[in-house]
Amino acid sequence: MSVRKESGRKVTSSAEIDGAGYDPSADRQRLDRLEAEFRDILASFSGRRPLVRGRLKRLRRRCGKSGCRCQRGELHETLVLIDRRSGVRRVRKVVPGEFLRLEEPARSWQRLRRLRARLSQLHREVLECCDRLTESRLREGSRLLR
Ligand SMILES: [Zn+2]
Repeated sequence: MSVRKESGRKVTSSAEIDGAGYDPSADRQRLDRLEAEFRDILASFSGRRPLVRGRLKRLRRRCGKSGCRCQRGELHETLVLIDRRSGVRRVRKVVPGEFLRLEEPARSWQRLRRLRARLSQLHREVLECCDRLTESRLREGSRLLR
């Protein structure tokens, strides 16, 4: 608990606001949360289950032959695994049994891609937090030099 003056009247606050109006305790809490998120993400990458690169899709289409059932709305279904590596679209047909087997590994791979993007964002947030805390402590330290 610190007591500080604000516009003439005394206010009590649990926040430790430094001379520059910065609250380091908020950033310390933020760092704890970022660290927890970091750990969760790294745990996902440390998993051992196999991954499959790509996205599974059910394509439904009409073949164009007259009198075919697809003309009555019963579309032909093709199961595919679409992989867009380095801008090249690779489409691989899969049979229904394979589709079921590949669903989880493909979903996990997509999830790891999102987590990787978050990881790089998280890294920036951690650095910003650390820099603000360092600056605040340097301001404290500058008093020692007076
Ligand atoms: Zn057809």
